[in-house]
Amino acid sequence: MKKFLDKDFLLDNDTAVRLYHEVASPMPIIDYHCHLDPAQIADDVKFENLTRIWLAGDHYKWRAMRANGVDEKYCTGDAGDREKFRKWAETVPDTLRNPLYHWTHMELQRYFGIHDLLGPETADKIYDRAGEMLGTDEFSTRSLIRKMNVEVICTTDDPADSLEHHRRLREDPFETLVLPAWRPDKAMSVENPESYNQYLDKLEEVSGVSISNYLELLTALSVRHDYFHEQGCRLSDHGLETFYAVPYKHQDIERIFLKVRSGRELNEEEILKFKSALLYELAVMDHEKGWVQQFHVGAIRNNNSRRLHELGPDTGFDSIGDFNMAEAMSGFFDKLDSQEQLARTIVYNLNPGDNELLMTMVYNFSDGKIPGKMQFGSGWWFLDQKYGMTDQMNTLSSLGLLSRFVGMLTDSRSFLSYPRHEYFRRLLCNLVGTDVEKGEIPDDPALIEPLIRNICYFNAKNYFQLG
Ligand SMILES: [Zn+2]
Repeated sequence: MKKFLDKDFLLDNDTAVRLYHEVASPMPIIDYHCHLDPAQIADDVKFENLTRIWLAGDHYKWRAMRANGVDEKYCTGDAGDREKFRKWAETVPDTLRNPLYHWTHMELQRYFGIHDLLGPETADKIYDRAGEMLGTDEFSTRSLIRKMNVEVICTTDDPADSLEHHRRLREDPFETLVLPAWRPDKAMSVENPESYNQYLDKLEEVSGVSISNYLELLTALSVRHDYFHEQGCRLSDHGLETFYAVPYKHQDIERIFLKVRSGRELNEEEILKFKSALLYELAVMDHEKGWVQQFHVGAIRNNNSRRLHELGPDTGFDSIGDFNMAEAMSGFFDKLDSQEQLARTIVYNLNPGDNELLMTMVYNFSDGKIPGKMQFGSGWWFLDQKYGMTDQMNTLSSLGLLSRFVGMLTDSRSFLSYPRHEYFRRLLCNLVGTDVEKGEIPDDPALIEPLIRNICYFNAKNYFQLG
């Protein structure tokens, strides 16, 4: 019997063990998409205790706690930090077989050297030990990043963000390059005229462009796009239910924009047309600058209206949706491709039922020039776990080229999430190692070692061209 979470965790055979420890593990990390706060990196902050660094903002943990009957007071509420931690610790034994059980113990081991199992009996001891360590310089944000051998981090930033913290990071750099990434979701969110107009007012201010018609909106966004590029941004990212690609005329979009800008609500058809137009323009901007565009599709968000009203978005009430993907994706990419304006693209899928659909769709738009131009992205959110990641790699292998895969990202809001790369690498090495042991892949280091190294590091390095 193997010990829980030992050095050969998730590695089922000798080839997998060798590939992981000798080939994958030493590779640096390129975290090309995450939600870390650049201000906390610029300030090199330290966190007061485990609750602050680990539980604050973590809707995965909150969901598990709520499901376990824990009162909201201990999730997002006003309970004290130690009380919140105790409630999390009480929940941990009930998360067996959920990835949270693995993440939790990997993070305690890798960052703090704590090998105890977290539960109600060990809660206070672990809280105090980790709390002491968090007070030292070795546990500042930059030290935590250094410890995990992270070469590049791309944060997630709104076009109206000043990027002041990224500028500070450029003036006071450390070993890891921290770059902004462009996430224009709010520029697309025309469903609520009130918040949309507030957003446009902010965008006007930061871009110096007054926005009274659609062309001016595009100008303001383009000014910010240029600015992001100057600040080292080379990636965009969109959180969408699905793609948008209905036909429209320019004068329709001008009219729709004037309507929403004057505070009136749009109907469904107008929303679809507007989103189709703007998403296309944003994709063209990315192509012009040689950026990579990312699309996170398939989440149905804010399902619990009572909780949305009480707690706001991104608090753990989102799930997997079932949107019409194929037709909209096809139309969106086809229009860009036919005008030779399709940027390098990664699509991340949330509904595992759409894996094959999405994988086969993106390859329709390979251009025969850029290797791996069209990417089916790593298992995301609910799929960022053993089966989800393995399924994604199996789909990619079966219908595309695993060898061109740009690999894993954290997509995390926590500075303790980097062991997710380790988790991914172990699964990758186990997948390939097992095929070798079964005689399905040649036992040839010259063939399989570059495959592992490329997926862990070199493909991302070549694809994103960061810094
Ligand atoms: Zn994300």
